[in-house]
Amino acid sequence: MSDNNILLEVQGLKKAFGENNVLDGITTDIRQGEVVAVIGPSGSGKSTFLRSLNLLEVPTGGRILFEGTDITDPKVDINRHRQKIGMVFQQFNLFPNMTVKENIMLAPVKLKLMTQSEASQKADELLARVGLPEKADTYPDMLSGGQKQRIAIARALAMNPDVMLFDEPTSALDPEMVGEVLELMKELAESGMTMVVVTHEMGFAKEVASRVIFIDEGKIQEENHPKEFFETPKNPRLREFLSKVL
Ligand code: ADP
Ligand code: MG
Repeated sequence: MSDNNILLEVQGLKKAFGENNVLDGITTDIRQGEVVAVIGPSGSGKSTFLRSLNLLEVPTGGRILFEGTDITDPKVDINRHRQKIGMVFQQFNLFPNMTVKENIMLAPVKLKLMTQSEASQKADELLARVGLPEKADTYPDMLSGGQKQRIAIARALAMNPDVMLFDEPTSALDPEMVGEVLELMKELAESGMTMVVVTHEMGFAKEVASRVIFIDEGKIQEENHPKEFFETPKNPRLREFLSKVL
């Protein structure tokens, strides 16, 4: 059966830092429109996994196919593919010396994917979408953490990505700001965006994810629809993990 709605194919992915085999054979597919939540203990390799998907970490084994292209092949122009992979980090990583709108416009203009006026229009649309149209000319330092993260999401969306990767997007936020970011991510999911989300927000994983993956000891120990995943976990380590976080 042809499966051309697979966006990312991860085949036996390995990543070692020296003697430390952080990822020890991860195999999974991410299909178009899926929202995949990745959970696991601290240090289990969740960030390494996510960063491998756009080759911010170079795998030491296995392959990653993005839209059918093996991006782990050194001959591939990774920058071309990265343009289609949006990433949102825990620490926002906005450019402090640029306004909010300049942050959003930067990549599409710099990469000559849009003219200034196209990028400006896109930025205005995105600012409205993330609910911050009045912040266009503000500098990031003037924003709350929740607002910064919403702008970071808008900035990633400016490139019209095919998939969005989130690495604990709410972990650096004060508790009262977590909700506004999760709500935006939920809207994004409902709009059909393909998303891979490393998170400690079990509520989000339960309600929004189409699939949940538990990584521990370098491997996917369990993956399932959220209902089965949380109600009838099979892997003993997952059961232990859930007993601590739920
Ligand atoms: P998680 O996101 O699940 O907390 P990470 O992927 O950040 O875990 O880290 C997994 C392991 O890989 C940890 O032992 C960490 O120390 C190690 N690690 C991550 N990045 C590097 C690096 N650049 N150099 C060396 N070790 C690293
Ligand atoms: Mg991490």
